[in-house]
Amino acid sequence: MDASMINKIQKASDYASQPERATFNNLTVEFHGANSNHVVCLDRDGWSCSCAGFRAYEICPHIMALEILFKPLLKRRPVPYAPGQNIVSDVEKANRYSQETDRIRINSFDCHFEGYNKNHQVTYNEGVWTSTASFFAQRGVCSHTMALEKILKGFVQPVRAQPVA
Ligand SMILES: [Zn+2]
Repeated sequence: MDASMINKIQKASDYASQPERATFNNLTVEFHGANSNHVVCLDRDGWSCSCAGFRAYEICPHIMALEILFKPLLKRRPVPYAPGQNIVSDVEKANRYSQETDRIRINSFDCHFEGYNKNHQVTYNEGVWTSTASFFAQRGVCSHTMALEKILKGFVQPVRAQPVA
């Protein structure tokens, strides 16, 4: 392996211990709930979920579980509890779901990444990664994608490095 790649791998490992450098602008998650599957989305207007709980209360255990799991990458206040919501039950479910991570699969995200030198945009869509880092343009992988791959391990498909030309 060449020195520049070793350097990026080292940097990715540093970045992975600082997940707060990354911020989700958009996120779409497939969530396998206890009874059925749901799609949870985050965008500039906030969270939404396809479940009945969200339709009734604009908050649900799926969103609450993602707030627990991805806290450093969100940089937003948790969705407030709603009148009539079964808070005890929903908190219990959210805590359980946040442990049962095989329920959760990220379909896509768009992420702002504060690098040591420059900020970058990293996107993920059904296993396809992009990054604005110049190293990524050459090699199909960079310290930012590798760091996010570590941070989001189990929720995303790994970045595939390009063979050295
Ligand atoms: Zn939901």
